[in-house]
Parts: sequence; structure tokens; C-alpha cells
Amino acid sequence: MAQEYGFDASGAQPKGAAKVLGAIFLWIVLAVFAGGLFGPSGLVFVIIAIAISIFIGNKKCALCGCGVNKDTSRDIPDFEGLTWSLRPYPTSVGRICEKCDPEVKKHEQAYDEAMKRAAEYETWPETYKGRIPVSNGSEKEPLKSDWIKGKENAKNQLIITAAYMHSDCNAIIKLRFTQQQESSGNYNYTAWQAIGIPCKLAL
Ligand SMILES: [Zn+2]
Repeated sequence: MAQEYGFDASGAQPKGAAKVLGAIFLWIVLAVFAGGLFGPSGLVFVIIAIAISIFIGNKKCALCGCGVNKDTSRDIPDFEGLTWSLRPYPTSVGRICEKCDPEVKKHEQAYDEAMKRAAEYETWPETYKGRIPVSNGSEKEPLKSDWIKGKENAKNQLIITAAYMHSDCNAIIKLRFTQQQESSGNYNYTAWQAIGIPCKLAL
């Protein structure tokens, strides 16, 4: 589902979330089955089992799988300024343990630095016909944002992703947008994807 700031609604679901959804679906199927077989008492049993499995599920580190203590663990950061495929972790669901924390902090630091560089970025649309002072040979492979609700959000994600990938770049040229209609339940909206070429300006 596309959210305020940047999730690809059309495919790149986080693996962790998909796993959780799969487990919930399985439990619902079981609950309906047990309800049919044993009546209300079967249902109550399955609901208690779901509660216990969610409780146990929350006690594992999302990265190494070890048991975590609520006081010494924290939620895994989601790096939502980056496109899904380039985020350090394939999930933003779950907790991380003390042992994994330093590794996660390294990624957070790189991400924070990218955010600072992103604030300095300049962009030029694909339709721009004038001269752009691009440093020779600094153009990188084109990058794409995820499909995001809000054109500005798509553009911001593209810039942050470029800054994260290329510390030597400070601009996006040939910036363009594509759009498509998506829906979430009864709600229809326009999702945007920003595409552009990271490069460095010659000053
Ligand atoms: Zn861990």
C-alpha cells in the first residue's frame, strides 16, 4: 500500500510484513476451520494461540533472530527516504537487539549524511533546454523512486536515494515523472514515480 512518504504499492512489499500477513492469514483460515469443527470454544482456542504467537513473535530480533529484551531493543528503522530495493534491510517491521545495534547505527549514519547532502541537491527537468554545468563524465545510471502518493514525495525519495548511493553527486538532471492510478479499498489516488540521472555540477 502506498503511504504518505514512499512505499511501492505495486510489488516491493517488505518481506517481514509479508511473512506476518501470511501468518495472520493462516491463523484466520485455522480459526474459521476450528470454529466450524468445534464451535465457539475452538474459536476461542485459536484466538488465544494467535495472541501467544504475536507475543512470542515480538520477542525476536528482526535481523539475527535472537531473543530480545524489550528494554534493550528498539524498532528497526525504516529508511523510508530510500527506494525499497536500496534500503539496508528488506523489512521495517520488528525489533533489533543490542548486538545488531552498532551495525544498524552505521546505516543510520550513512542515511543521515545522505539526507544532509539531499538538502543541497539541485534538479533540472528533462524538458529543460538550457545549458547545465555538469561535470564531465559524472553522470550515473538513472535512478527511479518507488510509486508514491504525492509528486513531491516521489521527487524527494529520488533525491535522497541519489545522495545515499553517490556521495560525489549533488544534482539530478533529466528529471521526469510517470503516474498511474492506484486504489486502496474504495479510495483511488494517483501514484507517482520520479526518474532522473544523478551527477555532479561543475562550479
Ligand atoms: Zn540481532
